[in-house]
Amino acid sequence: MYFKRLELHGFKSFAEPVVIDFHEGITCVVGPNGSGKSNISDAIRWVLGEQSPKALRGGKMEEVIFNGTENRRPRGLAEVTLVIDNSAGILDIDYNEVAITRRMYRSGESEYMINSNACRLKDIRELIMDTGIGVDGYSIIGQGKIADIVSNKPESRRQIFEEAAGVVAYKTRKAESERK
Ligand code: ATP
Ligand code: MG
Repeated sequence: MYFKRLELHGFKSFAEPVVIDFHEGITCVVGPNGSGKSNISDAIRWVLGEQSPKALRGGKMEEVIFNGTENRRPRGLAEVTLVIDNSAGILDIDYNEVAITRRMYRSGESEYMINSNACRLKDIRELIMDTGIGVDGYSIIGQGKIADIVSNKPESRRQIFEEAAGVVAYKTRKAESERK
């Protein structure tokens, strides 16, 4: 399983539609300061369901929508699609390619899609749970994350190992059934 493609439209500095192809192995993103490198990793977090504007280096979620420049008008919505190669069948869905889409309007409303079918955020969370790629996973190591892990309480550190061991889905389902 690997990220194949990221499509951005109206997300942060990406006003016009941009498609970024990734390949198996390592991809490096290079560019001058302020050119949008970190905005790419923000887009990946966001499309996977990030709900915290702070984690996306902003104050309000609306700030992910392209806010205009001197000669470009602001956009009314941000849209990001992440295409994941699932030919190894790691994601429990009958497709070799899985496209996850999130769209957000200035009203604050978000829409989510899996392979162009409208779905809930919960469906995306469940699909990627225990694969390590979710926002609570360990695949996105932001600045300061290593320091956090080292200085965390043992219970929080345990969550990282539980995600790696693939037991989060079972624990979540257990907690949900106990609540009912
Ligand atoms: P560095 O090398 O300094 O880490 P970077 O390539 O990671 O830089 P980013 O932080 O990804 O740069 O991009 C910052 C740029 O994105 C800034 O110029 C900022 O104005 C722009 N930006 C962020 N949010 C928006 C938005 N909503 N609308 C328009 N531009 C935005
Ligand atoms: Mg950066």
